[in-house]
Amino acid sequence: MASNRNRFAFFEGKFVPIEEAKVSIMCHGLNYGTGCFEGIRAYWNEDEKQLFVFRMLEHYERLHNSCAILLIELPHSVQDLGDLTIELLRREGIKEDMYVRPLAFKSQEGIGVRLKGIKDSFAMFAIPFGRYIEREEGAKVCVSSWRRIYDTSLPARAKCTGAYINSALCKSEAEMNGFDEAIVLTRGGSVSEGSAENFFMVRDGVLITPSVTSDILEGVTRLTLMQLARDELHIPVKERSIDRTELYVCDEAFLCGTGVQVAAIASVDNRPVGDGHIGPITKKLRDMYYDIVRGRVPKYRAWCTPVF
Ligand code: PMP
Repeated sequence: MASNRNRFAFFEGKFVPIEEAKVSIMCHGLNYGTGCFEGIRAYWNEDEKQLFVFRMLEHYERLHNSCAILLIELPHSVQDLGDLTIELLRREGIKEDMYVRPLAFKSQEGIGVRLKGIKDSFAMFAIPFGRYIEREEGAKVCVSSWRRIYDTSLPARAKCTGAYINSALCKSEAEMNGFDEAIVLTRGGSVSEGSAENFFMVRDGVLITPSVTSDILEGVTRLTLMQLARDELHIPVKERSIDRTELYVCDEAFLCGTGVQVAAIASVDNRPVGDGHIGPITKKLRDMYYDIVRGRVPKYRAWCTPVF
């Protein structure tokens, strides 16, 4: 179905047919990985016949932060980027769950590794999108033999295109060894995050996640779930360093992110987490999250921007 319809991209300041949104083989971002991006989900609500974009402006605030780190001049404000996203989704006109990919990158053609004084561009496209991990109710994960990139070298805080080599190495190793996902340790050996997801565990009724200084991407879903745990489940939430062996003794664990949503972890390094099934806190957070993103919870409706 997707191949027969008109598809669009926002490229070089205007909406164009997606086939026309092309970069040169000499593009700086392609050669050196000098770009940064976002991944934003829009959820179709069948009852209301409406598409809702989840926490759109928070994603664009993070894009602005990534650009600041990469010395990319973004010609659009956070609000403008939001408006462009709605316009793109309206033009696409698809009435199912979508994934939006905004991309700011060094677009200059030529050789030379630097950030300052290089031409920047912004582009955006959207695709229909379902699950990221098949076994969302109980993923088999391993601890990666790769380490997470670190802040004084390649900052994980910026969502940089080039940095996803690290994620791809971790994810591929995990899949080639029969796992769904990888948990990645910092250089110092504490838990950082998944290959492209933030990590949470439950120990003795406390929800625990690595702090923002653990070489993680500061996830929008992470913040959302921390708020829901505190305000709706009334459980304590702690940001602290997590040891590898805590993964083997925790009561519950899950990965979260825009793409993966909330994926329960069934086992780590072939050791069951809890009883090997989705735990009660993970289940409650997951159910709540899936309702909220589709605009079904009035209290959190402000997080959902309607497209049509
Ligand atoms: N960490 C990494 C490395 C990611 O790529 C993502 C996905 N953007 C996340 C965490 C989760 O972030 P968010 O909840 O904002 O999607």
